Amino acid sequence: MKHCGVLLLLGLLPSAPAHAEWLSRTVDGIMGTRIYVEIWAEDPARGEAAIDAVMDEMRHIDATMSTYKPTSEVSKVNALAGTQAVPISAELFKLLGTALEYSRITEGAFDITYASVGYLYDFREHKRPTEEQIKAALPAVNYRHVLLDARTHTVRFSQPGVRIDLGGIAKGYSVDCGIEILQARGYTHALVNAGGDSRVIGDRFGRPWVVGIRHPDHPDQVITRIPLVDSAFSTSGDYERYFDEGGVRYHHIIDPHTGHSASKVRSATVIAPTATRTDGLSKTAFVLGPDEAMRIYNRLDDVDAVLVTPDGRILYSKGLEPGVAPQPGAAPPDGAARPDAATPGAADPPSSTTH
Ligand code: ADP
Ligand code: MG
Repeated sequence: MKHCGVLLLLGLLPSAPAHAEWLSRTVDGIMGTRIYVEIWAEDPARGEAAIDAVMDEMRHIDATMSTYKPTSEVSKVNALAGTQAVPISAELFKLLGTALEYSRITEGAFDITYASVGYLYDFREHKRPTEEQIKAALPAVNYRHVLLDARTHTVRFSQPGVRIDLGGIAKGYSVDCGIEILQARGYTHALVNAGGDSRVIGDRFGRPWVVGIRHPDHPDQVITRIPLVDSAFSTSGDYERYFDEGGVRYHHIIDPHTGHSASKVRSATVIAPTATRTDGLSKTAFVLGPDEAMRIYNRLDDVDAVLVTPDGRILYSKGLEPGVAPQPGAAPPDGAARPDAATPGAADPPSSTTH
């Protein structure tokens, strides 16, 4: 069982027109996780249809992007792109381009070719590669090996042994796609969550949506809360998919430079306008460490972050430091840095299952 890093703390519902209502649905097992959609719907039948459309979109992205499905487009790319240029859909082409952009922004911390060594881990089975296996696979880990040709809409790997995996960005992307579907249908108060990635439209009638960040060792405890309006957020944690062995935690975020689990923070929550962006940035702090990561986050005008360090400190980016004017979309945390804060009225978190 994996624990999503984020708790959504839903207060009492405010009064509103009698026929309108909050609709929500949870579906397990899409993209190896749990999808949660909540909307304020004037017309419940139309609302249910809108949620159907979001879930269908998530299934489509799963079918295209999953490396767990041998028939997916990404699996075909992994099978062929080491030896030939592979024509791909406009959607995958664009997302690969976005993934490479996040590799550049994060100075190589985010790297979809982590999978060249990442595939040797199986966290459920407590399986990890030997040092020799890591050493042999590591030269294939480098986002620069992924060559996109915009003229032919193809992707090719510059050397054999390269594998890609979009597990670090596809959920965020799918959340954005779900939000776009809801916006196109006129919804102005909504939440879409997929595993550690979420985005909200509007507020909850004059009150913000409130995100609680979990204690890495006590997932039922909230260590700080962030109010959000019209914003996305992703939390990555070393407590989501992992096993412990000989006092070492082996978990699903891999340092592209070493091929080992990246452990410079325990959790990282990133807040920005889109979930593709927050997902693409939330792995960075694990690989680069809190100082380097904060330097990158603080350089990006539309990004905020909350990091939990191995010694339990909670670090805030500039825009979230208590007393500092917030970024659009996020406000400074209330009760910040109060470990084990009580969570009266907390709703069940949109927790997720393992792949
Ligand atoms: P969630 O799956 O809940 O959204 P994260 O956003 O933290 O969790 O993403 C973790 C996933 O990112 C891993 O399971 C793996 O698929 C992928 N990943 C691991 N290391 C890296 C990395 N260095 N760069 C890009 N993606 C990574
Ligand atoms: Mg994610």
